[in-house]
Amino acid sequence: MLKLNQLIKIYENGHQAVKGINLDVKAGEFIVLVGPSGCGKSSILRSIAGLEAITSGSIELDGRRVDPIKPAARDIAMVFQNYALYPHMTVYDNLAYGLKNRGVEKSLIDRKIRRVATTLKIEDYLDRKPAKLSGGQRQRVAMGRAIVRDPKLFLFDEPLSNLDAALRAHMRLEIKKLQRELGVTSVYVTHDQVEAMTLADRIVVLNQGEIEQVGTPSEIYHQP
Ligand code: ADP
Ligand code: ADP
Repeated sequence: MLKLNQLIKIYENGHQAVKGINLDVKAGEFIVLVGPSGCGKSSILRSIAGLEAITSGSIELDGRRVDPIKPAARDIAMVFQNYALYPHMTVYDNLAYGLKNRGVEKSLIDRKIRRVATTLKIEDYLDRKPAKLSGGQRQRVAMGRAIVRDPKLFLFDEPLSNLDAALRAHMRLEIKKLQRELGVTSVYVTHDQVEAMTLADRIVVLNQGEIEQVGTPSEIYHQP
């Protein structure tokens, strides 16, 4: 479904952040990328999303190369740790923005938003601006904005790291539930082992821009 072939990312200063990564992600699979700070997790995610141009290699989605095309045309949604909501827009308009840009019909946008808002329990906040929301509510809106687009692939860059421990535990279960309900394909970056163990079908351990290990949570964390 998602295929990374010999992916290399070298930044302008010459730093090689990703050193020839190969990865195959199956449809419906939840992949978690872990590894020490600076090992290249974000660079990989941002390359897949198209926020960084890759240096060499290729990225395929459903058999089609996406690395040469614009981020908006990749059919990929990304959820960030800092939410990246538009502060001047209401929750409703934040959710609608991407669909409006694609010229989706208003009544269809409205139906999609209501369904996602119910799923994420944000239906009472649709008229509010992000500043009036709690961290957990903002994170739900950020997830809603990704879900409402119905993308082929979800990318999560440490989406829960700004939340307190209780909320993080709660949202972790919610993400797990969404994953089951929607059957989405995801690549999820975290440094939290509990998150990785709870959410992952497969964990990819990175070290200095290379894949060190790939396996199920029990293979990675319960070695003899
Ligand atoms: P992680 O997400 O695992 O913490 P990153 O992908 O953010 O790792 O970074 C990988 C390496 O690339 C780090 O050494 C980081 O300092 C470097 N790096 C990240 N972004 C840039 C950039 N824009 N320019 C130069 N080096 C960068
Ligand atoms: P326009 O882009 O023409 O200004 P609006 O943003 O006013 O259109 O929205 C038009 C429709 O979108 C409304 O009829 C309603 O169905 C839906 N809508 C917009 N904002 C909200 C909201 N805060 N809560 C519920 N529905 C909304």
